[in-house]
Amino acid sequence: MTHFSPVTPMIVAQLEAIVGARNLSTAVADRQLHAQDMSRFAPQLPEVVVWPETAVQVANVLSLANAQRIPVTPWGAGSSLEGNPIPRFGGILLSLARMTAVLAVHADDFQVTVLPGIGYKDLNVQLARYGLFFPPDPGANATIGGMLANNAAGIRTVKYGAAKDNVLRLEVALADGRLIHTGSRSIKQAAGYDLLHLFVGSEGTLGVITEATLRLTPIPALMSAVMASFPSVAQAVEAVVAVRGSGLDVAALEFIDAGTAALLARENQLDLPARPTLLMELHAAHPETIQPGLEMVRAICAEFGAERIHATADPTERQRLWHARHHTYETWRRARPEVQWLITDVAVPISTYPQLIAQAEAAMAAQGVGGFMIGHAGDGNVHVTLAIRSAEEERRVQAVNHALVQKAIELGGTCTGEHGVGIGKAAFMPQEHGTAVDLMRALKQMLDPNGILNPGKIFPA
Ligand SMILES: Cc1cc2nc3c(=O)[nH]c(=O)nc-3n(C[C@H](O)[C@H](O)[C@H](O)COP(=O)(O)OP(=O)(O)OC[C@H]3O[C@@H](n4cnc5c(N)ncnc54)[C@H](O)[C@@H]3O)c2cc1C
Repeated sequence: MTHFSPVTPMIVAQLEAIVGARNLSTAVADRQLHAQDMSRFAPQLPEVVVWPETAVQVANVLSLANAQRIPVTPWGAGSSLEGNPIPRFGGILLSLARMTAVLAVHADDFQVTVLPGIGYKDLNVQLARYGLFFPPDPGANATIGGMLANNAAGIRTVKYGAAKDNVLRLEVALADGRLIHTGSRSIKQAAGYDLLHLFVGSEGTLGVITEATLRLTPIPALMSAVMASFPSVAQAVEAVVAVRGSGLDVAALEFIDAGTAALLARENQLDLPARPTLLMELHAAHPETIQPGLEMVRAICAEFGAERIHATADPTERQRLWHARHHTYETWRRARPEVQWLITDVAVPISTYPQLIAQAEAAMAAQGVGGFMIGHAGDGNVHVTLAIRSAEEERRVQAVNHALVQKAIELGGTCTGEHGVGIGKAAFMPQEHGTAVDLMRALKQMLDPNGILNPGKIFPA
């Protein structure tokens, strides 16, 4: 039993009056398409899917749902990995997929104002003509709204930050239908409570982002990629700490294990030995600045025993490398179609990264489970991806996940570096945040007293 009301034919008619008949569906196929993200959590059918086209429509949907006590789950592209957009209590699935406009490019200020449903890859294609890009890059063609709501990060976060570092101003529809603006287009902002960042990472539980002004970065004139192969995982991750400690401003610092290197090489015609490997990128405006950086990377990797170091400035080879890295998940799935995967996501302070990786290897060995290990190593973030073929294996895989989270928190890190809490990490919130979870609950209660916004997420039941 929940305290929520069902979506009756009368509610459907009222929703239709708000968004128009073409922007609403109760068809099973549409509901199924919005029942599950990319995680392994059980799907749940929403009762109705709506695709608002304006912020006012979003606000009016929320106002109606709030008055009628109907749950509303925002949806971007559904690429989450922790069950974040699964409509656990049915109700209204609010897809932002038809709010995709670029409202204004403030090229001289390195900013853009967009509607939330635009995919970041599509946005970057449009921004290329201004010589600008939005740096956070989570791989899947996530929407800007979903990225902000999950505080997504990616390969280039080590240099350019996560979603939270690249947003200046938001328009948000609150549960009661109010539309508010928070933040400003100034880089420096000190006027009162930082409500902007309250909504970033809130996973649609506090409000629906209806517009965002993002911070952009000029596309670097020069980019070089470096691939370094090591005899052991331990040597590779020690090199990560050394590269970060050198003060070198790397634009990407990724770790992939030997199995992943072999698969990526085979599927993408990459010259990568089947060894624990670091993939790095350097950005610069002048050739004189990139060359010393490359030499420094070479020297550090050699010092930690790298067997092979290959640097390339060739754009085709570099793009092939990052394309391969971005499609690692699909590559694993193609390689072993018979298994299901659990993708873990923990992050720690960089000096403790080797301890975290050692724990990951030990936990996998202790539980006798197989899988792959990759990570945004420069950020102290690792994704151990574990194979599941049976209920018994699921139990052992969950034990590894649990051990990793415990270790990450013990090392001063977090249960989720970038995928968010959703359903999967809710149980760890009290351990990570202590009594601060009570304050989070109080904020939720204040902004959404009827609990209609994405219920069943972030907080343990
Ligand atoms: C293969 C693969 C690789 C990935 N790699 C990365 C990675 O490197 N880094 C990373 O950070 N993530 C990664 N992810 C996870 C995922 O892509 C990101 O979390 C992404 O930000 C989700 O965006 P989305 O548009 O799909 O949002 P959804 O999954 O649709 O929604 C995400 C959350 O935001 C809420 N939401 C959506 N839109 C809004 C809005 N406008 N206002 C308020 N709330 C909203 C939803 O209710 C949900 O809680 C990966 C996923 C896959 C499948």
